[in-house]
Amino acid sequence: MEDILNQLGIRSQNHGTATGTNWVESSGHTIASFSPVDNKQLATVITTDEAAYEKAITTTQQGFLEWRMWPSPKRGEVVRQLGDALREKKEALGKLVSYEMGKSLQEGLGEVQEMIDICDFALGLSRQLHGLTMHSERPGHRMYEQWHPLGIVGIISAFNFPVAVWSWNAALAWVCGDVCIWKPSEKTPLCALACQNIVSEVFARNGVPEGVSTLVIGERDLGERISADNRIPLVSATGSTRMGKAVGAAVGARLGRSLLELGGNNAIIITPDADLKIAITACMFGAVGTAGQRCTTTRRLIIHNSIYDTFKEKLVAAYGQLRIGNPLDAANHVGPLIDTDAVSHYLAAIEQSKKEGGHFIVEGGVLEGAGYESGCYVKPCIAEAEPHHSMVQHETFAPILYLMRYHTFEEAIAIQNGVPQGLSSAIMTLNLREAEQFLSHAGSDCGIANVNIGTSGAEIGGAFGGEKETGGGRESGSDAWRVYMRRQTNTINYSNQLPLAQGIKFDL
Ligand code: NAD
Repeated sequence: MEDILNQLGIRSQNHGTATGTNWVESSGHTIASFSPVDNKQLATVITTDEAAYEKAITTTQQGFLEWRMWPSPKRGEVVRQLGDALREKKEALGKLVSYEMGKSLQEGLGEVQEMIDICDFALGLSRQLHGLTMHSERPGHRMYEQWHPLGIVGIISAFNFPVAVWSWNAALAWVCGDVCIWKPSEKTPLCALACQNIVSEVFARNGVPEGVSTLVIGERDLGERISADNRIPLVSATGSTRMGKAVGAAVGARLGRSLLELGGNNAIIITPDADLKIAITACMFGAVGTAGQRCTTTRRLIIHNSIYDTFKEKLVAAYGQLRIGNPLDAANHVGPLIDTDAVSHYLAAIEQSKKEGGHFIVEGGVLEGAGYESGCYVKPCIAEAEPHHSMVQHETFAPILYLMRYHTFEEAIAIQNGVPQGLSSAIMTLNLREAEQFLSHAGSDCGIANVNIGTSGAEIGGAFGGEKETGGGRESGSDAWRVYMRRQTNTINYSNQLPLAQGIKFDL
């Protein structure tokens, strides 16, 4: 791993505050990054203290004044070059993501590919930040709208997508003319340092001002500082619902804007008309991929009574084939949880589920012995449960899957929607009527609803996000860019009269 860290410009001890190419001195405490793969310490990072934060934010404000004057397609060209730099560093960055976070190498590489894809998307977008033109009711007047940059976008991100989520926000924000200040998860600071190094090289080459890409490192208190900071008009926060409620309240109290991407509790409905082969693969990938640590992880299966036993049997047999181990080894399907705290939450959820009447048909547990020394490897498990159980209603960020039975289609939709979260959902059916009902306004209440594919694996071209306690934010594709800009309505009078609103006469 040492050569990978070298390639990405990471030393054993690192500064954590940067405004572009410049690093800012800080006397903050130090965070050590340990890999959940083997519990080895990778490097340390100095956190951002108050003085360093102030210095960084001042530079970021100044950077905005210059950056907003760059034509958008020129900003897009810089982001295009960032995509190319990521292509060159894909292997190294993908490996670091896998090692620091614990997801499989293929998923680490996939995450970097998502960064490349959003850069391509942002390049095209840089020529399409368009508003509408309206017909004015007044003669000799023209009315139209334009979209202007907002200013500083604060990005608070979670550990499970340590690089992609930042790029989804930053690439769009940059072409929109905004500047970014990123506080990554304290659990994956090195992935953020690596991104900062890649971006700063591209920016320096293009004469991009300091402060367009600012990085700060710290824990929850630093996130709270960003949320309360009036100088940051938009805070995009990805993480738990608990965190999102705090960020939403703090940003709302100052009437700022927030984009919240929070927890999910995603279900797949398996109907009697499902293609069971597709359904099994979708459920397995959705439930155990990234060791159940995706916001879109499949946590609930709602299975029709007539196929319940057959499907359960197939699923249990498939779980028996799973190989758990080092995620850098392509032969393994499941890697570790992020840390031993996450393992404790997983064990507590299993206990609680059992107390509530959950019946485990594939038992969980922590793996021990050679290869599992970090204490972070757990067994994906399956419980039969009731929709109202508190553990079914709750997102546990681990590979625990709950099975439930349904008899009528309406009942399946009610179970699917009967949780506080609303991120991703899917139905397995070849029945057109059921598929369309599921997608209709009387169907799934989630931000993402799929037919014959599972709950995870979103593409960057679509807007990503969810409803209810998932926070309502949308990132990435479609018209998600609008949240990074402010709309201005312009009316121009080219006549020699001034007709006043509401027919008012104001003769002087
Ligand atoms: P977390 O909420 O513990 O932390 C996320 C980030 O928020 C970290 O950077 C953390 O330092 C910061 N933070 C924590 N409390 C804060 C506060 N009160 N104010 C400001 N910042 C604060 O989440 P995590 O454990 O890193 O990630 C897992 C969670 O993220 C899961 O719930 C998962 O579903 C969710 N997630 C959602 C999406 C999505 O797009 N909807 C994507 C990835 C992860």
